[in-house]
Amino acid sequence: MDFRFTPEQEALRKEFTEFCKEESNRAPEGWIGGLAAEETDEGWAYHRSVVKKVAAKGWLCLPWPKEYGGKGHGPVEQLIFSEVMAYYRVPAIPFHFMTVAAGIMVYGTEEQKKEWLPKIARAEINWAEGLSEPNAGSDLASLTTTAVADGDSYVINGQKVWTSGAHRADHIFILARTDPNEPRHKGLTFFINKLGPGIEFRPLIFMNRSHFYNETFIDDFRVPKENIVGKVNQGWYVMMAGRNFARANIAFAAGGKRDLEDLISYCKETREGGEILAKKALIRHRLVELAIDFEAALKFAYYVAWLQSRGKEVAAEAGACGYYANELNLHLANTAVEIMGLYGTVTRGSKWAPLCGKFQDLCQWSSGFTIAGGTTEIRKNVIAWQGLKLPRD
Ligand SMILES: Cc1cc2nc3c(=O)[nH]c(=O)nc-3n(C[C@H](O)[C@H](O)[C@H](O)COP(=O)(O)OP(=O)(O)OC[C@H]3O[C@@H](n4cnc5c(N)ncnc54)[C@H](O)[C@@H]3O)c2cc1C
Repeated sequence: MDFRFTPEQEALRKEFTEFCKEESNRAPEGWIGGLAAEETDEGWAYHRSVVKKVAAKGWLCLPWPKEYGGKGHGPVEQLIFSEVMAYYRVPAIPFHFMTVAAGIMVYGTEEQKKEWLPKIARAEINWAEGLSEPNAGSDLASLTTTAVADGDSYVINGQKVWTSGAHRADHIFILARTDPNEPRHKGLTFFINKLGPGIEFRPLIFMNRSHFYNETFIDDFRVPKENIVGKVNQGWYVMMAGRNFARANIAFAAGGKRDLEDLISYCKETREGGEILAKKALIRHRLVELAIDFEAALKFAYYVAWLQSRGKEVAAEAGACGYYANELNLHLANTAVEIMGLYGTVTRGSKWAPLCGKFQDLCQWSSGFTIAGGTTEIRKNVIAWQGLKLPRD
């Protein structure tokens, strides 16, 4: 494979970098990136102001056709953008928009595409993702939330869980059971709608005491029939449209690389027992191992985008990339906290927390990342089946 980028791609990287550098200077004090944007009103205002600028430049949906507000770019350009944004900790991508946008793009009617895609591209909508339920996560097809036809609408009842960022959302997409007699995957329908009566979000406070996740209670929530994406009972395939745009998810590798650079600086500047941390053999070796791993993670992500740019299926490779980078972030966070000793356990907000408590926080967030978009075990199942051609479990 060719690891070089074209001159046009290098020029784009320069443009993205200039933008992201400038935006990162506007970040609120103590900004640590990641999901912190959703937590405070100040962080959310910063997120919204950046994302609006990104959308105005047409960068939010780089690979989309121009008629829907995209730039018609390929997977490599998308990768460069995600890499630069994550490296500079710029909070530019609204949550979940790819799942719903891909569903509309592939299965929506022409009216739905015209109605919804430009609004998504202009960052006018913040989505809550109503997929997982208390008893349906990895085995999502066992979900029990129901949708029953009533006149021009469907009436939805049930409960969803882990609804990330929903307290900042104005719209929701829901996968609900419309036919209990069909086989599990085949009786589900994909609904999109503005939030309204019948939807209640309750905070699900995370172990680091932040409010990012929610439980969602759905009680007679009405969705007009014209807001069904795809056909009734075919919602599974609509949801999978987003999943099928498998991504290398370079943001985890690029963000982790930046965090590692901060850890390296910390080790160069901090003494323990009179000796600079960076002079201790054990610490030097652990930093070197992490640096090699992150470089490998980045190159692996480049490889996936390169395969995609040649029209190859990448489910196993993208799954491996996500799995590797997620586990690596968890490893980085644990290593950093160990290196920092007791200071590493001090939480954000305290003057004693090194690097604004970044790693103490990351320790907790990153364990969630190994579950959120499909658990490590499920990713391994995909690699086993599609990559190693082992029999399906
Ligand atoms: C931080 C976070 C954010 C999330 N955000 C959202 C969101 O915004 N919207 C949303 O709808 N959902 C969201 N989720 C839910 C997420 O998609 C599910 O948690 C995930 O799919 C796992 O489902 P589960 O929690 O029910 O665990 P289970 O599916 O019950 O799994 C429990 C354990 O069993 C293992 N396991 C299950 N099946 C297999 C198998 N076939 N082979 C091997 N091992 C298996 C799993 O890997 C896991 O270790 C989020 C979850 C987290 C933790």
